Amino acid sequence: MSTTTPGLRVVVIGGGIVGLACADELVRAGHDVRLFDPAPASGATYAAAGMLAPGGEAWFGEEALLCLGVDSLERWPAYAAVLEERSGRRVDLRAAGTLLVAADRDDLAEVRRACVLLEASGVRAEELDRQALRAHEPTLSGRVAGGALLPDDRHVNPRRVADALLIVLGERVVRARATATPDGVVLDDGSRITADVVVLATGAVGMPHVRPVRGEVVRVRSHDAPSRVLRARVHGERVYVVPRADGELVIGATEEEHSAGQGTPLPTVGGVARLLEAARALVPGLDRAELLEVVARDRPGSPDNGPLLGPVASPGSARVLLAGGHHRGGVLLAPVTAATLRAHVDGLDVPDAARPFTPDRFETHRFERNEDPCT
Ligand SMILES: Cc1cc2nc3c(=O)[nH]c(=O)nc-3n(C[C@H](O)[C@H](O)[C@H](O)COP(=O)(O)OP(=O)(O)OC[C@H]3O[C@@H](n4cnc5c(N)ncnc54)[C@H](O)[C@@H]3O)c2cc1C
Repeated sequence: MSTTTPGLRVVVIGGGIVGLACADELVRAGHDVRLFDPAPASGATYAAAGMLAPGGEAWFGEEALLCLGVDSLERWPAYAAVLEERSGRRVDLRAAGTLLVAADRDDLAEVRRACVLLEASGVRAEELDRQALRAHEPTLSGRVAGGALLPDDRHVNPRRVADALLIVLGERVVRARATATPDGVVLDDGSRITADVVVLATGAVGMPHVRPVRGEVVRVRSHDAPSRVLRARVHGERVYVVPRADGELVIGATEEEHSAGQGTPLPTVGGVARLLEAARALVPGLDRAELLEVVARDRPGSPDNGPLLGPVASPGSARVLLAGGHHRGGVLLAPVTAATLRAHVDGLDVPDAARPFTPDRFETHRFERNEDPCT
């Protein structure tokens, strides 16, 4: 298809990195866009480490998600350059790659399994022994067992990306909570806004098929900071260390399933202790780091860890599209998500890698009453 329909009235509900990126893309496509969020960029986007690392997250059975991540990663350099130019803000995009690091032999076996999958999917991964690993990153402990370099991974500062998007969107962002109605949205003060298209991008709350998966991160500043992203297994415990400007590091992340509606996410002593213990075993110099911030937020998890991108059945005149369920990869996937949503709105060709991620994939099979889902 190659039709475009500029000038539609579009409302985006939710101003995390996903909603902001979609709103901006639709503005650039010529639509009349408004975005509603009482506290933009305060959800998962606020906690995100900003790894643009499809390989670092890859696992068996998630090959389509890996392809989507690779597609979005390729979009990031141009996306960041254009956003920086338009907003006048730096987003701190870096291209130093990821080091996968294993603390012991069992951890190393996991790293090797991940490398097999990556190789099969065409993602470059170079296995490294302890000496080679420490030559790449001298701040690592001398006791690590080995690892791998994923040279094509990047990382970015998600708070800066959100700030830049808020600047370019300007007064199109309205600080108010909204709920979808058949012909648009209603705000908490009762005012109604009619729209042709409603994009639901509310993160871990209020999104069909999406559940909250809590994550905690610690921010520190170190004079002896690693220069690239470290993703490690330390005696079975997963931890990552992500460098930012000025010696700042993000150490993350815990992962905990919990029920919706359990209040504001708060960091826990146990979660933070596990992260710091693993990070210090990996990079002993972190003992001298300055503690800056501890944050907990909910990731929007979906049943297959992939995002929901596209239309859902809507009861009224407004078309409703989902942009959610990005789980651990919403920062990575923001550019391809925005392009995909724009394609759905305008009737253009959806990026090939995004085709498997329409929301209707969860509607195709319904279990009969007596059917055992485990057989
Ligand atoms: C600890 C942690 C580390 C992470 N690290 C990475 C990483 O390194 N790389 C990566 O790619 N991803 C990472 N992620 C995942 C990433 O943060 C998420 O996938 C992404 O932020 C999801 O973006 P979102 O816009 O959908 O949701 P959110 O950022 O949660 O935004 C949702 C927004 O919707 C608003 N909202 C909700 N309800 C309403 C309503 N009714 N009306 C109006 N507004 C509403 C909220 O106020 C919020 O601002 C991480 C997540 C966590 C928690």
